[in-house]
Amino acid sequence: MTTTRTTCPYCGVGCGILATPQPDGTVAIAGDPEHPANHGRLCSKGMALGETLSLDDRLLTPEIGGLPVDWEAALARVAQGFSEAIRDHGPDAVAFYVSGQLLTEDYYVANKLMKGFIGSANIDTNSRLCMASSVAGHRRAFGSDTVPGTYEDLEQADLVVLVGSNLAWCHPVLFQRLLAAREARGTRIVVVDPRRTATAEAADLHLALAPDSDVALFAGLLKALADRGLADTAFRRAHTSGAAAAISLATPCDEAFVAARTGLVAADVRRFFELFAGHERVVTVYSQGVNQSAQGTDKVNAILNCHLVTGRIGRPGMGPFSVTGQPNAMGGREVGGLANMLAAHMAIDDPAARERVQRFWRAPTIASRPGLKAVDLFEAVLSGQIKALWIMGTNPAVSMPDAARVRAALAACPFVVVSEAVRDTDTARHAHVLLPAATWGEKDGTVTNSERRISRQRAFLPLPGAARPDWAILAEVARRMGFHGFDYAGPAAVHAEHADLSGFENNGLRDFDISALARLDADAYDQLAPVQWPCPAGAARVQTRFFADGRFYTDDHRARLIPTAPAMPGRSGLRLNTGRLRDQWHTMTRTGKTPRLMAHHPEPVCVLHPDDAKTAGISDGSLLIVDSGQGRAILRAGLDPGQRRGSVFAPMHWSDRFAGASRINAVTRGVTDPVSGQPALKGADCTVRSYPARWHAFAVSAERPVSIDGYWAMAPVKGGYRIDYAGISKVKDWQTEAARLLGVPAQAEWISLHDAATGLMRLAAFSGDRCLAALFVAPRPPDLARGVIDAALTQDWPGTARYRLLAGRGGADRPDEGALVCACQSVGINRISAAIAAGHRTVAAVGAACGAGTGCGSCRGQIADIIRNTQENARRILSRSA
Ligand code: SF4
Repeated sequence: MTTTRTTCPYCGVGCGILATPQPDGTVAIAGDPEHPANHGRLCSKGMALGETLSLDDRLLTPEIGGLPVDWEAALARVAQGFSEAIRDHGPDAVAFYVSGQLLTEDYYVANKLMKGFIGSANIDTNSRLCMASSVAGHRRAFGSDTVPGTYEDLEQADLVVLVGSNLAWCHPVLFQRLLAAREARGTRIVVVDPRRTATAEAADLHLALAPDSDVALFAGLLKALADRGLADTAFRRAHTSGAAAAISLATPCDEAFVAARTGLVAADVRRFFELFAGHERVVTVYSQGVNQSAQGTDKVNAILNCHLVTGRIGRPGMGPFSVTGQPNAMGGREVGGLANMLAAHMAIDDPAARERVQRFWRAPTIASRPGLKAVDLFEAVLSGQIKALWIMGTNPAVSMPDAARVRAALAACPFVVVSEAVRDTDTARHAHVLLPAATWGEKDGTVTNSERRISRQRAFLPLPGAARPDWAILAEVARRMGFHGFDYAGPAAVHAEHADLSGFENNGLRDFDISALARLDADAYDQLAPVQWPCPAGAARVQTRFFADGRFYTDDHRARLIPTAPAMPGRSGLRLNTGRLRDQWHTMTRTGKTPRLMAHHPEPVCVLHPDDAKTAGISDGSLLIVDSGQGRAILRAGLDPGQRRGSVFAPMHWSDRFAGASRINAVTRGVTDPVSGQPALKGADCTVRSYPARWHAFAVSAERPVSIDGYWAMAPVKGGYRIDYAGISKVKDWQTEAARLLGVPAQAEWISLHDAATGLMRLAAFSGDRCLAALFVAPRPPDLARGVIDAALTQDWPGTARYRLLAGRGGADRPDEGALVCACQSVGINRISAAIAAGHRTVAAVGAACGAGTGCGSCRGQIADIIRNTQENARRILSRSA
């Protein structure tokens, strides 16, 4: 058994992983104790990676029009489709939509092909949905897209401010590092977030501000710093410009104004200002809550202003810190994967940079202007401007705002190519050509995490079927389009060229310089240890932070403070906030394969404040419709007093593969930030109302259940699937319907219980002692021990024991875990409650008693919360999410 060092494919923390294939075909996963990002820690998603490697859902051969073909035919068809579109309509008639899941080498070749050889900048990435506002804010302030700090800064800070970031669930290992530092040195934590998230539960101060009032808060902070004499620093005078104008625009933002605009208590506003003013070592972490807004770039600059004016940047324990959602969002930024960038952090609107890159690539052309950003790109597809579109490693039919419009665009596009690892995604259904791509564990390359650390992703499994790495597919198509410069021997050669370009005519003029890696041969590349940039050739690798010296990448090397004006007060009515759950990743194509990750939230939820629920006549656990007028989704209601009144939260993950009519991006709108082009995915107006179901059902089935016209949500369990249904149409014969929905064969043996007075119907089908399916129907969502029923498919039910299944309850021999809290150890709320009732009143004691919280630690905040609260509140706690 050989252990391979690689990197987690999920979030931007970029944890190192040890992957060890086992003789039985499984892969053992452990955190890499030598990786500087995680020092051996992993979160629940990372720990479960070994459960996501099955090939049952994989795309393993190229397809044209739904029929398998060989690679030669597929590559020729792609090259022909793009060449003809360019010949007939020009280079701007084609586009690539790529992904932060791609490795840097894949990204580099895609960007080179589009910008240097096709001659268009119509390549954009799903990272546009994640952190484009941070890129734009960085470039406005620093003259470069530079993240100044490192993860160590969170451990060395005295105050950490988390803005629009549920770090506990979205970057769990970094959050664990922060909590460990707090334990050691008493770090103060402030959370700025409209929702009381798991992160907010751990904060010393939670500022539950009104949505999109962040600029008012940070403009008020800038004024408060100026009023306290903290803005007139030597750093400001020597190394920044624009401070006077920024402070002047912030003058009206006194505490009363900020309190009124944000909806916060004035005393909390003052306390935040005092905390920030009183701690020099302050790190401000921000992510999607800041970026995914129509004022996203202004929010970023309002934060950067406060650090620049005080000179709190680039030194240990201080600085602004954008954390990326995706594993290689930073790598995409490095190669120029955004439509408004060129390559190696060079600007596409700089003629000298364009000439330099074209010369380096020996390219026949170079894109002369920025291309279409994601929302505009799909609008151009819908309008017919784009004739050929290649989507790589992403699922825009689910993840883009106004997703129904994106589907219409894909359906209307004359030529759609999709490179995918998964055979059936909502986007792949629109492809004319499907190309089987290698995925995590099979491909080789590099990723860059949020602290600029480049790590290797290494293959530890053979390429399955005909799957190929993305960079190789792109290079083959480029060659068939008649282009030279794509004859790479392997990913090491691609990376060497990328590194070489970063240092090409750089001379310290650009932040991104990894030219020290340009001479790595294949062996050295294979052995490459995690390395933080910059790492210019010939220089000792000592610099890990930027800007302590006050030298920025603007023309005069001064940072710019950008005057930011608070947005007008929010609209009345409900506001939809979307985000992530602890145990899920994007559209669930990978995390949706593991029963224990799905157990945390098996259904798409909508969290709302009890007062808003009461107004709408919605009860906890019922079904509701969230509707923006443009689109609607049916979701399970979760009531939470920690949800801000006037806003609802729904996760972004569910696609048509896992639920019916539950895609939340059918509801969101394509409104974007005017500077960054990032969609305001947290800003749709909406209404909520009850879903008028006539009946509700819960089922388990050994066969994959079929969908219905009403509500359904499916998740894998051991031995099969679990599914929730709700419908409006009357069902005449439930046994016939159950057999149809759950694929029960005619020869199965059925048992049933029916209570005509209450409308309860319970059925189970068996083959011998083995349960094939069970269905529980009721006029309201059935009250059941679902964990016990989930396990029914892998247990024996001899004789009359099978009637206990219909009871839907646990027992001494079949304990009911209740809702899952700890995914690593599969411990539910009931076992934790029992441990608390037995006198274990600390997280450590509960862990020692039942194992909960002893794995990755992501659930320790929830366990602490459960200890603090009563079990009656557990459902509320569990409904919180990113
Ligand atoms: Fe992966 Fe979790 Fe680490 Fe993120 S925090 S990189 S999801 S193990």
